[in-house]
Amino acid sequence: MNLQPIHLPGVEERRPLVIAGPCSAETEEQVMHTATQLAASGVKIFRAGIWKPRTKPGGFEGIGSEGLAWLRRVRSELGMYVATEVATAKHVEAALAADIDMLWIGARTSANPFAMQELADALQGVDIPVWVKNPVNPDLELWIGGMERLNRAGITRLGAIHRGFGTYGQTLYRNPPQWNIPLELRRRHPALPILCDPSHIGGRRELIAPLCQQAMDLSFDGLIIESHCRPDAAWSDASQQVTPLQLSHLLKELIIRDTTPSAERLTLLRKQIDECDEGIIHELARRMSVAREIGQFKREHAVTVYQSSRYNEILEQRALQGEQHDMSSDFVKKIFEAIHEESVRQQIEIINGKRS
Ligand code: PEP
Ligand code: MN
Repeated sequence: MNLQPIHLPGVEERRPLVIAGPCSAETEEQVMHTATQLAASGVKIFRAGIWKPRTKPGGFEGIGSEGLAWLRRVRSELGMYVATEVATAKHVEAALAADIDMLWIGARTSANPFAMQELADALQGVDIPVWVKNPVNPDLELWIGGMERLNRAGITRLGAIHRGFGTYGQTLYRNPPQWNIPLELRRRHPALPILCDPSHIGGRRELIAPLCQQAMDLSFDGLIIESHCRPDAAWSDASQQVTPLQLSHLLKELIIRDTTPSAERLTLLRKQIDECDEGIIHELARRMSVAREIGQFKREHAVTVYQSSRYNEILEQRALQGEQHDMSSDFVKKIFEAIHEESVRQQIEIINGKRS
């Protein structure tokens, strides 16, 4: 992707970039009141949803275009940048006509390639920063694909927002974070800024601070946090919004560590990690060669490759051994599932005479 940094005059470059504001713009008074308090505590970018994607009909579906004028007031009277969510070409048109500074695309929209293409077409040739939330389903390719559509339309000031992934049933988080997905996105597109949205991940006020800290420790570039002057009375997402004052405390408490430490100690530790990994590869290769010998035996004695009792025994024993060494049994099981899969693959080749 052809990416340009999102420089915003008047906004400091250091982490975290903070976007804050209510889930929804409800009334002019609520918008101005919240934004005034946020501006006073140093927040430079204000968010508010005007068109709200709600799970069920009949709830508050957003104030609509009327709210754009309130965002303009925030911009002109408080000097903040303003951002809102767009989901259709009509939203884009209305937001651009109202001089909104930046747009975000929600999780339900980024899950739909038709909608993403419609937005890309509507944004063709427009120079505006756009943030793309991850799709509701944990599909990194779909997330990247949506951003690529925008990028091909000429949007180069592009960023990603990690807002957690949909789940069914009771879980600690409203949308479990599955951090490995945004981290893989970072690995694949290092120049793409990534914000964390702890509000939609957590779904509960008390989870916001620890999620922000975790995002900072994982080198995220910024945070988009829902903040409302009267959270409990919010018309949408009441349980996850914090007051501007709570937000300002929370941001002050964050420990921001250096993302590019060059200390000698770190270099040494990384060298140790490289050595450990080399050892792991060496041992894996040794294990595979034993597995291939077993494959020869199975071939000669016409025994099937896969025996579920042996497989279960390996997984259970290794999980226990892993726990004794301070590793989660799930983690160790995953590793041995992968190792077993490769052993089976190699043994099947042997049984079929495709390798020796
Ligand atoms: C929002 O930011 O208010 C929102 C609707 O988020 P998401 O698309 O992540 O659910
Ligand atoms: Mn919300």
